Amino acid sequence: MTPLARIIAEQIAATGPISVAEYMRLCLGHPQHGYYTTRDPLGEAGDFTTAPEISQMFGEMIGLWIASQWHEGTRLVELGPGRGTLMADALRVLRGADMAPEVWFVETSPVLREAQAGRVGDARWATMLDQVPDGPLIAIANEFFDALPVREYLETPQGWRERQVGLIEDKLGFGLSSPLPLRPEAPGWWAQSVEADAILAEIANRLRADGGAALIIDYGYASADRPAGPTLQALRSHAPQDPLEAPGETDLTWLQDFDHMRKLLCGLHTRVSGQGAFLAAMGIGQRAAKLAAATPGAADTLADALERLTAPEQMGTLFKVLAVSATDRPMPGF
Ligand code: SAH
Repeated sequence: MTPLARIIAEQIAATGPISVAEYMRLCLGHPQHGYYTTRDPLGEAGDFTTAPEISQMFGEMIGLWIASQWHEGTRLVELGPGRGTLMADALRVLRGADMAPEVWFVETSPVLREAQAGRVGDARWATMLDQVPDGPLIAIANEFFDALPVREYLETPQGWRERQVGLIEDKLGFGLSSPLPLRPEAPGWWAQSVEADAILAEIANRLRADGGAALIIDYGYASADRPAGPTLQALRSHAPQDPLEAPGETDLTWLQDFDHMRKLLCGLHTRVSGQGAFLAAMGIGQRAAKLAAATPGAADTLADALERLTAPEQMGTLFKVLAVSATDRPMPGF
């Protein structure tokens, strides 16, 4: 049993089963034992690898997209920046084009803030988006929304019930709440994150008020392709694992519903594409060829990275890119 498993079991024994969202909040954000509070989980030696950690080309393509949307005075905000790799790669592109945006990182993890400071020395930090001063902004979020707490519901013959974490013979186990008066949009399993919805709504409000654009990249689906089972997933050392197995030592994530996100961005201009198509349209193929020509010894590594980022059976279609802008301006990548 991990130390956090003991704490969670004691809490459940005292006050009853908790929602999947509460479980996620404790596992990822507990001040002493939370997964993101205590470690840098990224990279080949960690639990999972993200696109910016696969190759500099990813951040460079995002940098080109930012350059297309940026004008003097626009703040650049990244939510959940991990090691700061994406931003460091994007800033190289922006500075090459004489653009020097003020950079803000929205990050709660002290360990990752330190890593970010090492990559982007002149960044500013906030724990919530509303601490970033008003004004036009470009917001970037790669694999950020999937780290926010999500609640899960299941339709049963008795009505909608919430999936909960309780105790089964002194061990953490999943169960279902009593029926709830809910009216989700579709039958089966249904997931909802109040936190993710609130942050997206705040981005939308700021774009409506002050202008700007946002790029959200995550793995997810269109509503019509909603998965038939629960959305919560656990990853450890790059392999799926039981989400209740090692609380605080396992990454917990869930899949994003991109149609739902688009609804929250109503009144703004949105576009969605697969990550592979987006990166191809931004010119990642040409960039890979140029880098390979400059460093022939790295050609295989670059080809491998290109494949991982764009191939349909890798990150190319499961990962999606949602762009949103306040005005209907031209936008590369879609
Ligand atoms: N974007 C990075 C890291 C993804 S991991 C990359 O692609 O490599 C998720 C990131 O979100 C981590 O930096 C984590 O510390 C941060 N995070 C998780 N919950 C958060 C919250 N509630 N507020 C701000 N940052 C959060």
